[in-house]
Amino acid sequence: MTAATVNAAVAGPARPAHRIRCEVDLAPNGRSAGHLRAPLSRNTSGWGVVMIPIMVVAAGSGPTVLLTAGVHGDEYEGQIALSEFARRLDPAMVQGRVIMLPALNLPAVEAATRLSPVDQRDLNRCFPGRRDGTFSEMLADFVTSVLLPLVDVSIDLHTAGHSMEAAPSTNMHLLDDALHLERTLRLAEAFGAPFNVLFAGVDEGGTLTSAVEARGILSLGTELGGWGRVSVEGTRIARRGILGALRHLGVLDPEARVFDCDPGETAAPTRHMIVPGAECYLAAPADGVFEPAHLAGAEVQAGEYAGWLHSVADLDRAALPVRYAASGVLWMAAGPGRVRRGDVVAVVMQPYPN
Ligand code: CA
Repeated sequence: MTAATVNAAVAGPARPAHRIRCEVDLAPNGRSAGHLRAPLSRNTSGWGVVMIPIMVVAAGSGPTVLLTAGVHGDEYEGQIALSEFARRLDPAMVQGRVIMLPALNLPAVEAATRLSPVDQRDLNRCFPGRRDGTFSEMLADFVTSVLLPLVDVSIDLHTAGHSMEAAPSTNMHLLDDALHLERTLRLAEAFGAPFNVLFAGVDEGGTLTSAVEARGILSLGTELGGWGRVSVEGTRIARRGILGALRHLGVLDPEARVFDCDPGETAAPTRHMIVPGAECYLAAPADGVFEPAHLAGAEVQAGEYAGWLHSVADLDRAALPVRYAASGVLWMAAGPGRVRRGDVVAVVMQPYPN
């Protein structure tokens, strides 16, 4: 026995690259349903796992599309549309591969919270992730290192969660690569939300989108509602968008009827918009109860009242007016509710010149 084989015998089998075990074959022919088994030691089960549902449907040849929802647990439209889609998608409808995770951040989904109750982390700030990090970091690492290498297109379904309401929209980064930018714009139009919002120069460190784009994968996000409730229109747009995007990519048979209720046709072409800079993010200048002046989707002007901060416990203090610093369309509006100084209470978007 050489020194090397002795060392190998002592070391035992190689340490697995990932701590999460995927039950399903990611390269099937047909339909494969199961779970990601993510280890989580707790008081009642030292070797317990969190079982995150995953569905893979593949047939013929074509691109691989990753569809995710439930990255934030309090954003329901994508969870509803994608879980229904995953349950009903048949391999006979598909050319290529669709990997579906409708409740990716399962602990947060079950708690209906943005942050994971396991480690109090925002999964969408944990990418690319760490194998030996917290639960959310481990989950991000699995997506980055196991799923993304297989993927050509990623569509991640969000809303604005509890704190804000978004005008129903897809979103993407303002990409340097002209061809990549063009392909993403066309994908957004196929998804067919009323708005498609391009970001430029905001802090996007740690998001799934950033991890996807770092690999040169086509990436589209959504904001289909908010205020911690289910938007009727947002859910309809999510269903329609999944169908439209997959048909555009040639992955879904145009004749396939997947959903029971027909989500209908897009009412109007998608308007491409941009959030060009920091002046479009309006922060509360003080603590208080914020009364917004507009709903998401409203046309607004710089200098106009965005709302008022009320000091409801101090009747001697008048409400503090807050004004927009940029003109455009209100992409995100705060719900009436208590805010802290520095919380974003409005985001304005402007027409994208294309
Ligand atoms: Ca979100």
